[in-house]
Amino acid sequence: MSGCACGFNSCLPSNLIKEGKMKHGLKIYMGYSYFDSPESGAAIIFAHTAKEAKQFSFALNQDWGDGEWTDSAVRLLSGCDHLYEQADQKMLADGIAHMVDHPVVCSVCELWGLPIDPKTRICVNCSEE
Ligand SMILES: [Zn+2]
Repeated sequence: MSGCACGFNSCLPSNLIKEGKMKHGLKIYMGYSYFDSPESGAAIIFAHTAKEAKQFSFALNQDWGDGEWTDSAVRLLSGCDHLYEQADQKMLADGIAHMVDHPVVCSVCELWGLPIDPKTRICVNCSEE
């Protein structure tokens, strides 16, 4: 598998954190439940470690129903740097871990893994068709 862990091949790997451009050190995780497919209801979590991210995923699963710690999954999304735009910019700048449980999604495919045009609300994949 190449490219981004979110499954969208057009998310190219980049090295913003490695290069030290991301001073806050927050990585991007996708939080979801093992019982649901990631596409059906996933949140974006900005956290320093997977362990930290999982606490948000767990809280989310409890919100959605009878989520258990063991059902709460996170997946590191490396190379999806455009998702930093969806973060709370102040918390991002301060390096505070947080979750975006209603990410902006494409109005066509309803996914958030790809860069979305803020005006049309259509992702790069759908706008090319
Ligand atoms: Zn789309």
